[in-house]
Amino acid sequence: MRLDLRGVSVRLDGRPIVHEADLLVGDGEFVALVGPNGCGKSTLLRTIYRALRPSAGLIRVDGDDVHGLSWRESARRTAVVAQETPSELDFTVGEVVLMGRTPYERVAAADAERCARALDRVGLAGAEERVYATLSGGEKQRALIARALVQETRLLLLDEPTSHLDIRHQLEVLHLVRELGVATLAVLHDLNQAAAFCDRLYVMSAGRVLAGGPPGQVLTPELISEVYGVRAVRRSQLVFERLKEEQ
Ligand code: ADP
Ligand code: MG
Repeated sequence: MRLDLRGVSVRLDGRPIVHEADLLVGDGEFVALVGPNGCGKSTLLRTIYRALRPSAGLIRVDGDDVHGLSWRESARRTAVVAQETPSELDFTVGEVVLMGRTPYERVAAADAERCARALDRVGLAGAEERVYATLSGGEKQRALIARALVQETRLLLLDEPTSHLDIRHQLEVLHLVRELGVATLAVLHDLNQAAAFCDRLYVMSAGRVLAGGPPGQVLTPELISEVYGVRAVRRSQLVFERLKEEQ
């Protein structure tokens, strides 16, 4: 699985939002997309999952133009956890997770098994019968990640997947995604976390992809000050690591 963006531009309401973005995600790679608020990260992701059309350029998944695929073929290749997630769905958690099986023929027993496994992986084992709308923000986010997992795609798009999570669940989700070995493009806010977890990252600013590569090469104090307008200082700090045992 390979995601390949060449010269992708996006306009919204006649305004250019993304300019000639080039970006690659290779098989099994965990790639982060970072950049200040409003720089166009979600717009770029939404264009990859076909909620928007590019005004120029080409987005290919495994060589095929994503905007030429049927919704079913597209949903079998790419799963999404979007930034604005539905909060008032009138469904149980199990029903929400099983929406991920929509592009496939449904097999009740096997799907129930997939659902249970996915909920277990995101730390919501046994939550099938709970009403989705009554979950906390973090639980909703994890249920939506479980929905993406049962979709069994080889490409995962995540828009700020850790934004509603406490520190332990942030680390759980990032470890989980990395261990899946599925090609992933994730918008992340925390530069230290992005650097710790991703294989490569891209930095966006004002609609342009400015730099891409291994975090140690890309996240220089010069680039960070240019993009975010802050001074980056390397010093020892409190570092959070996941405990193996549930506490
Ligand atoms: P990010 O995810 O990097 O914070 P977005 O992609 O959400 O940024 O937004 C980029 C820019 O596009 C912002 O200036 C935002 O106001 C604008 N924008 C987002 N959605 C729309 C829309 N539906 N119509 C017009 N402008 C939009
Ligand atoms: Mg966004």
